[in-house]
Amino acid sequence: MAETAPTALLLSIGSELLLGETVDTNAAYLGQELARLGMELRAVQQLPDDRKVIADAFLEALAGGDVVFATGGLGPTHDDLTREGLADALGEELVEDRELAEGLRARFGGAGRMPVSNLHQARLIPSAQPLDNPVGSAPGWWVERNGRAVVLMPGVPAEMHRMWREQVVPRLERRLRLFPLAMRTVKTFGLGESAAAERLGDLLEVPGEGIEAGIYARDDGVHLRFSTRAGAARLEEPMARALAILGDDVYGTDEQTLPGVAMAALRRAGVHTLVTIESGTDGALLAILAAHEPAEGEARYLGGSLVQEGPEPGEIPAEAILTVRLGAQAALGRSRVTVSLAAPGIGFEGREVRIHGSGAQRLRRGAFAALDLVRRECRADEQEGRA
Ligand code: ATP
Repeated sequence: MAETAPTALLLSIGSELLLGETVDTNAAYLGQELARLGMELRAVQQLPDDRKVIADAFLEALAGGDVVFATGGLGPTHDDLTREGLADALGEELVEDRELAEGLRARFGGAGRMPVSNLHQARLIPSAQPLDNPVGSAPGWWVERNGRAVVLMPGVPAEMHRMWREQVVPRLERRLRLFPLAMRTVKTFGLGESAAAERLGDLLEVPGEGIEAGIYARDDGVHLRFSTRAGAARLEEPMARALAILGDDVYGTDEQTLPGVAMAALRRAGVHTLVTIESGTDGALLAILAAHEPAEGEARYLGGSLVQEGPEPGEIPAEAILTVRLGAQAALGRSRVTVSLAAPGIGFEGREVRIHGSGAQRLRRGAFAALDLVRRECRADEQEGRA
């Protein structure tokens, strides 16, 4: 019989989640992490700050999965009831842990400075081990009962992410037989989803034993993703085949981004600084480049300007100027982007690309199309230089 993945349930605790005041990004984060780790997340439940509801949910969840995860409700106030709810579910008493209490006092810079309510966070049940929280006051809990585990983590995403990586994942890896999901991605621009699927043919339908392939259309192009639980090495061959088939339309793989690839290509072409001028885009290119985390070996983005009608670049003190004009939306959601790049040694004038989509998507696609043209031009230049 095939071995099955360990199962998990997740309780997201906090009335603000049910009121729609906080979006449950913890569930999205843990959903992705669990899939990658090789655990099957069976259900996510959002619960109010109600001790009885929380206790009942823990009891039910413990019957339904190998590990129950919970985030939120570990704070110091009267409405943080996750610890109490789990203690009730397991029939255990909460007792103040001397070491945890000392740690909390030290964190606040002395006993006199700590609000009394924070002592709640130093309470444990006998079967719980505390999980260190280096960036917040609420410790997590790791509890084992009848071969199952319950893991409590803080609700604040940054605290939860760190505890997850440093405390929880290593314990899960030690205790469970996991088959982590290996993933590789090929990123293309300029190809439609169905055109890409057609070119890939068999590779998409039968990528190899134990391998799954999926194709996704995003604003920054069509992404092809291979995944397997049979070891990352399995993905080398389909990756190589996909790269060969998709050729020049590929701008990167895995963590690479279109802005990163375009800025690195400019830098290799000798460009140190870039500015942008755009019209008709609502600043989509500026937003994308400003949000891009610059890395070593990339041209530096100095900023951009928006215009109604095309200005001449004039006296802007940057080496390269990328100009983008997004034409009025035509029938069938098609638009025309006109792109020029003025830079020493490289550049092009008035290239046109057609893009599809509407609203913000159309604007972002127009901006990504400009970056794709930049990386294509630089690449063609590099290849000519080599020839
Ligand atoms: P701490 O004591 O460290 O504040 P906590 O466990 O008490 O942690 P909560 O009081 O439940 O956490 O939530 C604190 C904040 O964390 C919330 O106001 C919210 O901004 C955020 N948060 C809580 N749960 C989630 C969630 N599921 N997804 C995203 N953010 C969340």
